[in-house]
Amino acid sequence: MLREVLGSIFKKPATNRYPAQKLDMPDKYRGKLKFYPQKCIGCKLCMKDCPTGAITINKLDEKKFEALIDLSRCIYCAQCVDSCPKKALEASGDVELAQLDYKKLKVVFRAD
Ligand code: SF4
Ligand code: SF4
Repeated sequence: MLREVLGSIFKKPATNRYPAQKLDMPDKYRGKLKFYPQKCIGCKLCMKDCPTGAITINKLDEKKFEALIDLSRCIYCAQCVDSCPKKALEASGDVELAQLDYKKLKVVFRAD
């Protein structure tokens, strides 16, 4: 017991000093979604397959689409990423999503 206590004093901590030290998320981590409007063809497969109804695709003109993503409803399953035939959606390593006002979690992605 004493050996374990003394040993742990000199060991590197298993935890990170977050938020002072940024986290390196692993590859393919399912964090905040990214949307690439220039790739979207408006098929709405992402909307159809989303289990929580967190994503809405709106047509802006003939070939332009925007994505409305409600990050407070999203469960970060990345089903929409898998369903998209054009790779217009991607899961990022961004996990810093906390907001005091939940309305800020409704995000609109559109081309500039
Ligand atoms: S990650 Fe899952 S819950 Fe979030 S928008 Fe995509 S399909 Fe819906
Ligand atoms: S599945 Fe992909 S291409 Fe189809 S509407 Fe969604 S983001 Fe656009």
